[in-house]
Amino acid sequence: MNIFQRRESEIRSYCRSFPTVFERAEGARLFDREGRPYIDFFAGAGALNYGHNPPEMTAALIAYLQADGVLHSLDMATVAKQKFLESFESIVLEPRAMDYKVQFTAPTGANAVEAALKLARRVTGRRNVIAFTNGYHGLSAGAMAITANRHYRHESWIQRLDAAFMPFDGYLGKEVDTLAYLTKALQDRSSGVDLPAAIVLETVQAEGGVNIARDIWLRGVAALCQQHDILLIVDDIQVGCGRTGTFFSFERAGIQPDMVALSKSISGAGLPMSVLLIRPEHDQWKPGEHTGTFRGNNLAFVAAEQALQHWRHDDFAAAVNQKGVRLRQHLTELVAENTGLVTGYRGIGMIHGLQFQEAARCKQVAQEAFGKGLIIETCGSEGDVLKLLPPLTIDDDTLDAGMSILRTCLKTTAERSRPRVQNESVVPR
Ligand code: PMP
Repeated sequence: MNIFQRRESEIRSYCRSFPTVFERAEGARLFDREGRPYIDFFAGAGALNYGHNPPEMTAALIAYLQADGVLHSLDMATVAKQKFLESFESIVLEPRAMDYKVQFTAPTGANAVEAALKLARRVTGRRNVIAFTNGYHGLSAGAMAITANRHYRHESWIQRLDAAFMPFDGYLGKEVDTLAYLTKALQDRSSGVDLPAAIVLETVQAEGGVNIARDIWLRGVAALCQQHDILLIVDDIQVGCGRTGTFFSFERAGIQPDMVALSKSISGAGLPMSVLLIRPEHDQWKPGEHTGTFRGNNLAFVAAEQALQHWRHDDFAAAVNQKGVRLRQHLTELVAENTGLVTGYRGIGMIHGLQFQEAARCKQVAQEAFGKGLIIETCGSEGDVLKLLPPLTIDDDTLDAGMSILRTCLKTTAERSRPRVQNESVVPR
């Protein structure tokens, strides 16, 4: 039994899917203790959009440490925070004509979601919140209450109060307009759905199976929010920071949510950091009302400021979209070659999901892939979707190499699951 099995809690999860001891990482590759390379199609569940240890971020972090830069400062003003805010304002907000205040929450995604829920409730004076089927927002009590997957909804943990679930776009098939149901539920005083403080959504449900809301649906939800004086909160924790091909995932729909939760790749280098963007009129916090010790990770600010430089010009977004096209070409071929195993794929920008007929086969492919040096995870309520989430900065050769491993694993799994022709001599008569 190794030290991890002996001492680390049973809660361990990813180390079970990827059972080795990692030591080093660079770009889209991880290396284990034995020096074995792995192509990373998981990218820290979206925390490593710019890859592992991007050299410009590492250099900035080393320089900051060597200059005795302040590491811990609660939420005091520091030069590192100032530079981050200035870059965020000039590179992200101003060119998009967005006016948001920035709240530095505690460092995990769930912390940003908690802050958003609390603020929405304070602003509106209402408690109910609408979330969606297959949504994932984190596992602290408030965030867990609006997370749909049963795996996380143990009877004894969940506060079932103050959260109503509505069908996400496409939940009932292509023909059914789930927006009509949401509209009716909000209009009808006998729907049983209390007027909520907020509607919380992911524009692409990443954990939920790479379910992509259409632009028209997103615009419809935004309009409903306006009409009923409900705050729209977009959880851009996994698919923000460029994952869908634009900095914010909702840009494609032309909407501006009331609040936006960002985490994971906002710090660029995978350091813990989360922010909640708030429309100025909703920034009704009293000073220190939602506080915490770790709300100013200066190292994260230093790396984040470097990461934002990618967005100064349009060519980064263009490159991401170009890589997405390449990924889709591969996926189109893989689907055509494996019709008995997979039914199709969904994707936008650099997040894609390969839909399997059976969850067991999906898991098998992910396991085989690890054995061949590719890190890839499953998602979806049944675990029947393989999620492709490579760093946005992955080069074409590495992308192709990863897809080639996937192709081999699909082939082996398809062959193994094909019913065997029985040897005639042993067929009972
Ligand atoms: N929201 C979304 C959309 C996420 O994908 C995640 C993490 N997978 C979270 C919230 C929670 O973030 P964290 O794990 O950092 O609390």
